[in-house]
This record gives sequence, structure tokens and C-alpha cells, in this order.
Amino acid sequence: MKITSHISLILLCFGVSALAADQSVVLKAARMFDGKSNALVQNAVVVVQGDRIVDAGSNLPIPSGAQVVDLGDATLSPGFMDAHTHLTADFSGNYNERRLQQLDLNVSEQAIRATTFARATVEAGFTTVRDLGSRFIASHEFVDVALRNSINKGVIVGPRMLVATKGIGATGGHFDPTGGFRDFLFGREPDYTDGIANGPDEIRKAVRFEVKNGADVIKAAVSGGVLSLGDEVDTPQLTPAEMTALVDESHRLRKKVAVHCHGDQAAREAIEAGVDSIEHGSFMKPETLTMMKKRGTFLTPTLMASEWIMGKLDNYPPSLQAKAKAATAARSEMFRNAVKMGIKISFGTDAAVFPHGQNAKEFKLMVDLGMSAIDALKSATGNDGELLGIGQKVGTLEKGKLADIIAMPGDPTADVTVTERVSFVMKEGKIIRQGPRTPQGTVEWTRSPDVAAPVD
Ligand SMILES: [Zn+2]
Repeated sequence: MKITSHISLILLCFGVSALAADQSVVLKAARMFDGKSNALVQNAVVVVQGDRIVDAGSNLPIPSGAQVVDLGDATLSPGFMDAHTHLTADFSGNYNERRLQQLDLNVSEQAIRATTFARATVEAGFTTVRDLGSRFIASHEFVDVALRNSINKGVIVGPRMLVATKGIGATGGHFDPTGGFRDFLFGREPDYTDGIANGPDEIRKAVRFEVKNGADVIKAAVSGGVLSLGDEVDTPQLTPAEMTALVDESHRLRKKVAVHCHGDQAAREAIEAGVDSIEHGSFMKPETLTMMKKRGTFLTPTLMASEWIMGKLDNYPPSLQAKAKAATAARSEMFRNAVKMGIKISFGTDAAVFPHGQNAKEFKLMVDLGMSAIDALKSATGNDGELLGIGQKVGTLEKGKLADIIAMPGDPTADVTVTERVSFVMKEGKIIRQGPRTPQGTVEWTRSPDVAAPVD
């Protein structure tokens, strides 16, 4: 890789390179995946001016005076998107330790920690995320909204975020923050201000409350989940009438609806109600997938979540281990069927269940379960752009799109794991990373000795 302008070297020292609005930047690489085509473009050239792509193709002429970044034997791609993250949380260690930590740390400290998760995610090549749920027990803070706004204002470095705030679920369901704790430990039952609602009218109130407080997308838990102590993994948790109210109210407010759903019955009812995406979908039967195909409902498979939990089973209590095993056993066949049937598949990982910044490991899991590498790449670019409703601005390398551009070594259609080694990240025309990840972009959370602690 060589940089023909020394200005960018100086600017890179500050983490994000600022370029004059009128100066063209030309990215060159051996190949390019444009976000929608079935074949890679050879001898790729992308011309960027300000925050936009002004041209993209093979062997294009270099505008005079342009800064050229030659990335060599690499593949350019639209910035990846992850349609299912939780950037304000980290559940990746010992389950009970993490549960205690949620009660232990004040919310401001958790918010500061989330800034490192945001950086790790964008440095891994994910320039957009749909962040599906951010809740802190017995707190009314909207940390995901704060994170999104701070990134948009340039206060911190991170991906573009579409946020769901708290998510919506039933009393005692997967999203009930007091589930598994002694009754009234926190003084009151959670209500719509915590995203807990029962009955169609209350569901509408919860949707309105979340939109009022900054939600870009509505998330709901319509079936049980793996990492919750008080429910079964596949039982339905909202009634069809509640789901109809959820979807109607959200769509009236022009917000899409993503539903956490493992169980088959809940999935059928949710698809019928008109949700935009089913998250997880572990136990969905072929007939349910047929319904999705007819309706155009997206599946966000989050294979990384179950993969991570299965690899670290000892970190979870026995009841959760049993739920994880059942969901994982079912999801592989469900995913293979979804690929065969040509269901719309969006790329989403459930980052926070595993450490932030490892999102790209999802690609290999998708390919191992029967998806072609090019379709896996499309899921994280063009497909996610469509699901998130921002496809007219991002998701492909085309004239007029925002310049969210990444590079990975080699050819991802020959070895999809190169997606895990992204070497260059540009977001809206600004170079966020070139070369190794920064120390701030690695999320290992270390504990320094407390020098003020009494010695005994
Ligand atoms: Zn999730």
C-alpha cells in the first residue's frame, strides 16, 4: 500500500483523516465487490469527493491532483453493515459475572465503555449497524441514542447507528429486565417506560414512547430467548393482536419492526402481522419460511451468537445451556432451508453476545451452512441497506452514494475469512483506519490494579 499524499499521513495520526471537500481521493485495488453484482470487478478504481462516491469501476482514469491510495492485492467493498448489534453492552464473559456487573457499574461508566465498542466495530469494517436494544436495569438512560448522536456529531468514532432504544416485550418475557430476580427487588414492576407492555393499547404507547425518545427502528421480543432466565426459548410472548398493534403503530410512524423470535408459532404470527425482519428464527419450519418468501420478510440469522455461546457453554447456567443447545441444533437446518428457498437474508450477528469487533466471523458461518460467498457479502451490504431503509445512500459502490468503503486482503470469494482482516476503512469520505487496528479499537477490557486500595 502506498500513499501519494503526505498530508494524509499526518492526518492519520489523529485517527480520522480530514480531507478538503473539493480534493478527490482515488482508491485503487486489484478487485472490487460493488454490493450487488455476482462477480468482482478487476482493477478497481473508486473516486471519492467530499463524502460521496463520484465514480466506481474498472481501470477508470485518475482525476488530476487527486490523492491516490493504492491498496494493492486487496478487494474494495461497500462498508459492511450489521443489522443486529448491542453496542452499549457486553455479555461475552461469565453470565453471572456480567449480570452482576450490570448492577454494579453506573450507567455513565457503561456508556463510556460503549464508545470503545463503537470504535472496535467500525475499525472491523462495519460502517453501519442497526442496534437492536439497549437497556440498563432500573435506569431510564438512552445510551444508544447518546452513542448514535455523538458519532453523528463527530465527538467519537463509530459506525452509523440506527437504534431501537429499549425494545418492547411482555411482562416476564425475554426483555423483562427484572426477569430471574426476586419479585420487587427493584421496587416496582417494569412498565412501558422500560419497554414492558401488555395489550395492544399499551404496546402502541410503548412504540410512541420509544420513538419520542429517539428510536429509529422498533424491536420487540415475540418469543422466548436464550439469555433470559425466566422463560422458555420458543414460547410465544406477544399475542397476534399485540403484534398487529406493534406493526401498525410503528409503520404509521415510518419505523421498521425487527422481532426477536426463536419459536415457530411466534414467527408465523409475526410474519402475518407484517414485521420487517425475524431475528434469529431458530425453530422456523419450511412452511414458515414459505410465508416469509411470499411476504418478503427478511431473516437476520445471528449465527455468531449461538456459535459463541456453544463454544463457551461453561460460562452459562444449566438452564441457559439447555436453551442454547436446543436453539443451535435447530438453527443450522433452518438456515440451510432459508438459503435454498431464496429467503431475503440480512447480515446480523447479535454482537455483545460475543466481543465487539468480531462481527465478520458471521460470513464464514453463513458460507459453511450453504450460502455462496458473494451472497454472504451481499447480505452485509445491499441487503442490509434495503432492510434498514437506507439503500439509496449506502450499501453499494456507485456514483452518488456515501463513500463508506473498506478493503480486505486477497479475494473474499476465494476465502471469505479475509473479511475478518479488513485493512482499510473509510466512512463518509473520511479515512478511519489504514493499517493495524488502534489500541482503542480492541475491546479486551483489562483491569488495572487499584493503587488506592488498602493493603492488608
Ligand atoms: Zn440481540
